[in-house]
Amino acid sequence: MAGLAALGGLLFGYDTGVISGALLFIRQEFAMSPTMEGLVAAIALAGAAGGALVGGALSDRFGRRLVILGTALLFVVGALVSAGAGTLGLLLLGRLVTGVAIGIASMLTPLYLAEIAPSGNRGALVSLNQLAITVGILVSYLVGYAFASSGGWRWMLALGALPGLILAAGMLVLPESPRWLARVGREVDARAALGRLRGPADVEAELRLLRQDVAADGQEAPWSALTDPALRPALVVGIGLAMFQQITGINTVLYFAPTIFESAGLPSASAAILATSGVGVVNVLMTLVSIRLIDRVGRRPLLLVGTAGMVASLAVLGVAFMAEGGSVWLGTVTVLSLVAYVGFFAIGLGPVFWLLAAEIFPLAVRGRAMSLATLANWAFNLVVTLTFLDLLAVLGKPATFLLYAAMGVLALAFIQRRVPETRGRSLEQIEADWQHNGTAVVASGGVVR
Ligand code: BGC
Repeated sequence: MAGLAALGGLLFGYDTGVISGALLFIRQEFAMSPTMEGLVAAIALAGAAGGALVGGALSDRFGRRLVILGTALLFVVGALVSAGAGTLGLLLLGRLVTGVAIGIASMLTPLYLAEIAPSGNRGALVSLNQLAITVGILVSYLVGYAFASSGGWRWMLALGALPGLILAAGMLVLPESPRWLARVGREVDARAALGRLRGPADVEAELRLLRQDVAADGQEAPWSALTDPALRPALVVGIGLAMFQQITGINTVLYFAPTIFESAGLPSASAAILATSGVGVVNVLMTLVSIRLIDRVGRRPLLLVGTAGMVASLAVLGVAFMAEGGSVWLGTVTVLSLVAYVGFFAIGLGPVFWLLAAEIFPLAVRGRAMSLATLANWAFNLVVTLTFLDLLAVLGKPATFLLYAAMGVLALAFIQRRVPETRGRSLEQIEADWQHNGTAVVASGGVVR
């Protein structure tokens, strides 16, 4: 079941990844100026920010399942409109619709998975979303490669309709989130949904906890509830991690990898593209490693080790660029440190940000609070993407990557001080940890304020 819902992540990865390959040909067909090209890429990001913002409130109101279903259909419409576009205007419209769908899926897929998962393997189930994102990115590279000789950009975009259709069909049969059902007072349905998810024997205890949680504070809260001081520590964690996930540079590395490889002296453009696919594969494989570990060692160790590894790899990369001279040896160091950097992201900040964002907010405002964290993620994604080339021009390559490393050091301090351990605890227990003490449980019994 979780695998089906994670198709939302696959679409997120595929649709953000596919555009760079497709643009090479769209550019020719529509005789586009560089500004127009930037607009085609940016309009999806803007749509994603908008989608992230409305997705939470919509899902608090209409339920997680219905909104994911609608989003799957949006993916289909967006793919078909942009693939069939005869004019630039229609192409922009198609990409905007796709972007909105990406934004909603990016917040709602992990949230839904967190709400249907049992506590003991919630980390792994929610992180199927991140696994699907990385698979989507990898597939988009391969599809770009496959259609490159024929210039078939319409096929590249149209292919996104397929997982959209499967996701829509899947959501017709998947159960609604029992937590959302309980919150809107549909207890009979909540019990039935839990029964389908866990088997009838295990329903009562979980239902009791859920009932207590809803009775204490489960009614749908307005947007203004987000300003409640009791919610602040959780918001700081959600938005802080959203920011650090992006300002440590992951998307510049993923999207500019071929350019970085080429300028580091890799012999040909096709060697650079091959190395990029290697990066995509490592991203998938290390996410799998993270999934195996996340419910055993916990969220904080993975975040700390992953981020420390990113900092070390970025530092090596920065130094390698300083000594740049096109030698084979330096080219090898560059490739290896980039691969290591992506691997460490895939262990820590990649999956764990989305997981914690789905876990740490109380039920009454979960959708909206997650919207805010996701919006921050897209906003910083945009800022980093837009500033990368200017940073390279002004600071040069070594300093740019050392700057990302410095952001990683800040991230480490932030994680150490602020981020709670949520392993093995139910969503209701996590909520109680924040609310009753204004604190959250940290590894080895410590407490953060
Ligand atoms: C991030 C994306 C990134 C992807 C790479 C996701 O967790 O939110 O911005 O492109 O990971 O795997």
